Order: sequence, then C-alpha cells, then structure tokens
Amino acid sequence: MTIFQKIIDGDIPADKLYEDDDILAFRDIQPVAPIHILVIPKKPIVSVATATDDDQQLLGKLMLVAAKVAADQGLAEDGYRLVTNIGQQGGQSVFHLHVHILGGRQLQWPPG
Ligand code: AMP
Repeated sequence: MTIFQKIIDGDIPADKLYEDDDILAFRDIQPVAPIHILVIPKKPIVSVATATDDDQQLLGKLMLVAAKVAADQGLAEDGYRLVTNIGQQGGQSVFHLHVHILGGRQLQWPPG
C-alpha cells in the first residue's frame, strides 16, 4: 500500500485543500516551491502509463481539479506548472498517480 492510499483512507494526516468522491488534493510534505500541492485520484492508478480507457473521464477531472485548486491558491494570473512523474527516470517515488501543482516563483526550463 502506498503512503497516498493511507492518506486517502485517513490513516495518516495530510493538509487537505480539496476533496470529492474521486479526487483529493493536499500540500506536499517537502515543498520545492512556495506552493506545492499534490492532486490524486482516489482510485489506485500507478501512473498515467498504466491508466486505461476506463480512466479517461477521471484523468480529465484530475487536470480540471488541479487547475481549480491552483486558481483557488491565486496562481492563475502569474502561472504555475502541473507535473506528473512516471517511473524511475521520470523521478516517481510514490507509485500512486499524482499531479504536482508548483507555483509561487519563477520556474526554470528544462527541469533537472
Ligand atoms: P514523486 O516523486 O513525483 O513520486 O512525488 C511524490 C511526492 O510526494 C514528493 O514530492 C513527496 O514530498 C510527497 N510526499 C511523500 N509523502 C508525503 C506525505 N505523507 N504527505 C504529503 N506529501 C508527501
């Protein structure tokens, strides 16, 4: 079981910013930007690489909720980044699909 499943189940605490039947958003415990939030589906999908056609609506909702949470944090005007890391070379460390919202400072490109 992943640490995010424990957060979904309420077994460990998180600083939650949004929750509905399908999606949960909470602050990253080790922020790399002034605003660093994770948006996850409650369904235990490992990454977008293992999502299926059945997940099409859920993945669309995940992105729309991420944009809404970012806007609620005041990031819409200056901009922000949505990132989802996949697998080892992608830098994924928690194997439950999550979208990082990163904002509140100028972000660089390309990423390290
Ligand atoms: P990734 O490396 O893309 O898999 O991102 C996983 C993220 O989860 C990292 O940014 C971690 O800081 C974050 N993280 C790990 N455990 C927790 C936790 N208990 N609460 C909030 N964020 C966490």
